[in-house]
Amino acid sequence: MSQDERINVTRSSMPSYEEYIQAIKPLWDTHWLTNMGIYHQELEQRLKGYLDVPELSLTVNGHMALELAIQMMNFKEGSEVITTPFTFISTTHAIVRNRLKPIFCDIKSDDGTIDETKIEELITEKTVAVVPVHVYGNICNVEEIKRIADKHHLKVIYDAAHAFGVKYKGKGIGNYGDASVFSFHATKVYNTIEGGAVAFKEHHYYEKLYNLKNFGIRGEETVTEVGANAKMNEFCAIMGLCNLKHIDDEIAKRKTVYEWYCNRLEEVEGLILNKCCKEITITPNYSYFPILIDKNKFGISRDELRERLLQENIVARKYFYPLTNAFECFPDTYRVNETPVAQRVSREVLTLPLYGDLEENDADRICEAIIKCKK
Ligand SMILES: *Cc1c(COP(=O)(O)O)cnc(C)c1O
Repeated sequence: MSQDERINVTRSSMPSYEEYIQAIKPLWDTHWLTNMGIYHQELEQRLKGYLDVPELSLTVNGHMALELAIQMMNFKEGSEVITTPFTFISTTHAIVRNRLKPIFCDIKSDDGTIDETKIEELITEKTVAVVPVHVYGNICNVEEIKRIADKHHLKVIYDAAHAFGVKYKGKGIGNYGDASVFSFHATKVYNTIEGGAVAFKEHHYYEKLYNLKNFGIRGEETVTEVGANAKMNEFCAIMGLCNLKHIDDEIAKRKTVYEWYCNRLEEVEGLILNKCCKEITITPNYSYFPILIDKNKFGISRDELRERLLQENIVARKYFYPLTNAFECFPDTYRVNETPVAQRVSREVLTLPLYGDLEENDADRICEAIIKCKK
């Protein structure tokens, strides 16, 4: 790539054109384009295997998966749900749109996940669930969260949108909690163009989700409950089947890029890298490369660094910034200074470009551009 070509923060992984065209050809014979077709069924089976989970339901996107996973628990309106503001707005919206009240817990600065030591103090008689996020594919303290949830009879619904393929102690991450929600959006490690899934253990949730994602229709003349439309279509399912064939290769290539960054940036004073690279109990997916910029040691702020990189045609992202509790859609509702660690991290974090096809000379160019900024 030439010196001035733009490097975006991510680049969707795709099968070859021929592979996808070949795979969608049968749709012109059957004209069966959606409504739990054979590719939808096949992808559900294959993802259960790949994610190593007992049950899984596909959806039109990750957000609807999250909304429906919360809805299927039948919480009483106005109940409280403990979550974090250091996430994509989807997490908070899914709670609010279910007419529940998000209660924001602070995060840990070294991995961006919920600070499990601060959960219990937020529990009231109205608390019904915890919705933690496996931020950047870093996993939450699932054991401690389970202990707290069991003790207080709370449900746990993980936002695992970043954690596709991550394993903890050899087990698929979707095995933890009452449900785990994945996103297969184009920008994620694994994509179905748009798509998502809920993973869970109890089979009755499969039936419940089936209703919620298909208008509650159970027969030509039978509608058993009020449901939305959140089905995955066959073109997306086929994209998913194709991408699944290449996912191990994609993650391996991301690992290589991840290690280039680690090697070149580890020693730079004022930059704090994601802790995940060193955990041995975790099989990571190398989904993001976040760095924290300590202005006092690095010399310039996160915002200045982002601008300087943009001038060199390198797009790094303030991800996540602002915190979800700071958006204008929630006027005078939440106080961002209740989660001071999340507030600091959101001001210092920058995620660097990361995708399987990122070339070594591009990673070099990015690292040099960063190092050049150090004062
Ligand atoms: C991407 C994402 C979602 C939503 O997924 P979509 O497939 O885009 O609807 C939810 N939570 C987090 C943390 C995400 O990154």
